[in-house]
Amino acid sequence: IFANILRAPEDPILGVTVAYNKDPSPVKLNLGVGAYRTEEGKPLVLNVVRRAEQLLVNDRSRVKEYLPIVGLADFNKLSAKLILGADSPAIKGNLVTTVQCLSGTGSLRVGAEFLAKHYYQRTIYIPNPTWGNHTKIFNLAGLTVKTYRYYDPLTRGLNIQGLLEDLGSAPSGAIVLLHACAHNPTGVDPTLEQWEQIRRLIRSKSLLPFFDSAYQGFASGSLDGDAQSVRMFVGDGGECFIAQSYAKNMGLYGERVGALSIVCRTADVASRVESQLKLVIRPMYSSPPIHGASIVSAILKDRNLYNEWTLELKAMADRIITMRKQLFDALCARGTPGDWSHIIKQIGMFTFTGLSTKQVMFMTKEYHIYLTSDGRISMAGLSSGTVPHLADAIHAAVTT
Ligand code: PMP
Repeated sequence: IFANILRAPEDPILGVTVAYNKDPSPVKLNLGVGAYRTEEGKPLVLNVVRRAEQLLVNDRSRVKEYLPIVGLADFNKLSAKLILGADSPAIKGNLVTTVQCLSGTGSLRVGAEFLAKHYYQRTIYIPNPTWGNHTKIFNLAGLTVKTYRYYDPLTRGLNIQGLLEDLGSAPSGAIVLLHACAHNPTGVDPTLEQWEQIRRLIRSKSLLPFFDSAYQGFASGSLDGDAQSVRMFVGDGGECFIAQSYAKNMGLYGERVGALSIVCRTADVASRVESQLKLVIRPMYSSPPIHGASIVSAILKDRNLYNEWTLELKAMADRIITMRKQLFDALCARGTPGDWSHIIKQIGMFTFTGLSTKQVMFMTKEYHIYLTSDGRISMAGLSSGTVPHLADAIHAAVTT
């Protein structure tokens, strides 16, 4: 009965890895997927995660029963604190409902399904460009997706004018997807002053902010620093949605651990919202997995483990900054035509190189370097040993 089924295209990001895996070249390099790699090019399990797992294994009182629909209570509380701040008045006033979800993607999807069911305004504005999965997540949840201007290819910076104009002409109540920090794929974030402008516009038009926080700890070098955009919005007392992921900042990619928080105006509303979130989750996957959330709560609730985590997180972020510097220097040393200073200015895991699809294809064919066709490079996939190869490839792509 499925004889005529059409073959679906590969995912634009995960498909890069599929192509990479098929390439027998010994010099091949995967800069597609946003996963951290060590200087040796290996995946990294944080030491603090190993320690937390050891504690969990040794605790014989732990069982494998189902979690509640909303997940692990400790994990939810600690996740809200991590993004909103330990002294957040919204948390103290019980204005926040947090549910454990399947990493960032699952948190976005549950939030989107809730909105499609309970919110009068079905249009969501996402930045152009944005992480490729956003459009699909929101469309499939039943929302209409529109874009707002974000990146200016000429300045390789934020198009704040375009952003404010587009959100300014959005219909009242529309949902606005914002990257909390380390915008993917551009690596360009608003300054705090620009965030304040965005916040004022969003509130004055009664738009609904939906933050995607997938890189807390990778932008400013501090967890609190990277939560400032979100805290600015929550601080004004208005509603706000936040999807958090622990994939990158704890390296828990495959554990699928994340959280959706919805900040409401009263505690009573928050508790009613939570009751409806349960109705979204129960028929979708019933309840979330226990292991990843237990690791995260063990780390967040213990001062020593928490401190160790912040150091390991900083080390990952710093290595990425070193790679930016090395790649920039290598291109300068080769006299590669063009201004490459955006490599060191951009923030987070990615560099939005400005290379065209044609140049990307050339680099893949001739140099076995794999990246997404929009020219995005995952800096975490680089090492001192592979920077020269990448610089040679970019130089050749630009000059041939
Ligand atoms: N949002 C953004 C902007 C991302 O880059 C990612 C990961 N690539 C996610 C959300 C979700 O990732 P995950 O589901 O693995 O947490």
